[in-house]
Amino acid sequence: MSNGSFPPTPRRLGGTLVIVLAVLAPVCFAGWLVWRSLDEDDTEAVGDKPAAATVTPSSPSPAGGAPREKPADSKPGQSPERTPDGGRALRGKVVVIDPGHNPRNRDHTAAIARTVDVGTHRKECDTTGTETNAGYAEATFTLDVSRRVRALLTERGATVRLTQDDDRPYGPCVDERAAIGNEARADAAVSVHADGAGPGQRGFHVILPASVRDGGADTSAITGPSRHLGERLVHGFSTATGTVPANYLGGGEGLTVRDDLGGLNLSTVPKVFIECGNMRDSKDAALLTDGRWRQRAARGIADGITDFLRGTR
Ligand SMILES: [Zn+2]
Repeated sequence: MSNGSFPPTPRRLGGTLVIVLAVLAPVCFAGWLVWRSLDEDDTEAVGDKPAAATVTPSSPSPAGGAPREKPADSKPGQSPERTPDGGRALRGKVVVIDPGHNPRNRDHTAAIARTVDVGTHRKECDTTGTETNAGYAEATFTLDVSRRVRALLTERGATVRLTQDDDRPYGPCVDERAAIGNEARADAAVSVHADGAGPGQRGFHVILPASVRDGGADTSAITGPSRHLGERLVHGFSTATGTVPANYLGGGEGLTVRDDLGGLNLSTVPKVFIECGNMRDSKDAALLTDGRWRQRAARGIADGITDFLRGTR
């Protein structure tokens, strides 16, 4: 109980309101300032996220601001855009990422030198891969990028499997790398590599399976979708990294076709290789050894796979 009158008189209520407003106004203003600064932080952070999908191209903002730009990676005729957060858009999809070589292959040279049947011929189980002139190994690069791709695609709802995760003494052999994708019934499989070409030879390229029907190899069902996947990867990778397709093969288009790679010959699911750059060129090596660039490379690969998967089913 209080000894004041209840309900309060109009005069008293008015006085109370004035006091409450006087206290609340600066608090609200301070809160607004905090909210503004958080909002700006979010805007800057968008650079590390997939391109927003809900933007309507060329429509001026209601507030009369500058027109919002169309996402750089959307072109007419391409697959539906990603939702702003990836939207768990890849739920139910299975992706196999194959980190080329294995950091421990160098300790098992005899084991990886044994040959396996790749349909068209026999070739080595696996190889050590290349390295930069300073000794940064391709296998270290491929594993790092592959793990980053896995994180991005998992965030988008896909089930992702790596063919190796530095969890085995060597390999797997190239035939097993293909078998892992086949047995997983992967919707897409990508083998991650970096090239060992000459100085001055720069840029990335994607390797597509040739039409092969020989021995245990039959790529007739996957050449079409693999090309589709490869084209999306070229677009996604160049957009995310700002690098251009290789200047030393593929006619500047970033696509080549090979019939000698067991990982492609023996695949029964859409599969390509991506050579992310040339480890033996100093400028490319500077990119490949930069963790921030590798994150962009991973995003490019994840975006290419996402576009492929969303555009085909
Ligand atoms: Zn390689």
